[in-house]
Amino acid sequence: MNLTFLGTSAGCPTAERNVSAIILDLLQERGRLWLFDCGEATQMQMQKAKFSLAKLELICLTHLHGDHLFGLPGVLTSRSLMQNQSAVTLIAPKGIKQFIETVTSVSYSWLTYPLNIIELEQDGMVFEDEQFCIEVKQLQHRVPCFGYRIIEKDRPPSLMIDKLKQDNINIGPLYAQLKQGKAVTLDDGRVINGLDYLGKVKPGRKLAILGDTIPCQASIELAKDTDVMVHEATQENALQDTALDRGHSTTVQAATIAKQAHAKRLIITHISPRYSLQDSTKLVNEAKTVFANTEIACDLATFQV
Ligand SMILES: [Zn+2]
Ligand SMILES: [Zn+2]
Repeated sequence: MNLTFLGTSAGCPTAERNVSAIILDLLQERGRLWLFDCGEATQMQMQKAKFSLAKLELICLTHLHGDHLFGLPGVLTSRSLMQNQSAVTLIAPKGIKQFIETVTSVSYSWLTYPLNIIELEQDGMVFEDEQFCIEVKQLQHRVPCFGYRIIEKDRPPSLMIDKLKQDNINIGPLYAQLKQGKAVTLDDGRVINGLDYLGKVKPGRKLAILGDTIPCQASIELAKDTDVMVHEATQENALQDTALDRGHSTTVQAATIAKQAHAKRLIITHISPRYSLQDSTKLVNEAKTVFANTEIACDLATFQV
């Protein structure tokens, strides 16, 4: 599982940073990509990072400000030109249906695959299958904005192939039964117990991807005990008043949320265009004074979860 930041700038792009979009790369886990926010030029950034639009399964928007939304029409309609016709689920605050209807009708565009739209109006569980579930909570921004908590369910143990080999067991035909921990009889008459050949249950990973917000209780709850949390840090610590005024957080505020949530690791993003890439060290160091395990994202940076 990897997080790739496609855009890390707040409000508008700069020559160094594009606007918000993050890929949660689940190619290994389920052969699919999940996209969080979709600022302008997201499809271009996906190409640079070598992600195929065809692999998109889920698109989750935190809110409908342009720097998180304006790349969506291009992503959705370009995907229609591809061979793969798998369905996409789009989760976003209320208003997204009207946006999609308007943009497709005015531009004479259409989609060639099913688009399942879930409009967010309140906190709750918005996605669940045998592998993952996703919970949302409303944050505190100037417009309705939701943060996402992504929980991977515990992964079943894998078979200890080396041990099976050591004991001269040909697992080919028995694989499924052994994997379920069942007892099986071998051709040579031996009875073996699948449980003796199973490793440990692998605990699922937890992530929080939060949108634009001032520090709030919902962020702490969403990020509680996560392996990785992504929080905006639009401004440096000295500009706390400016940040509050515009519904944003500072480096130190993001770090304080990470600490209060007992997250293991914090990645800050959504950096004001006033800062150049060279300012990144200063910004991340401010956060580290409160939460040591902080990193700052730059465009196309990938973090393994
Ligand atoms: Zn923003
Ligand atoms: Zn915003």
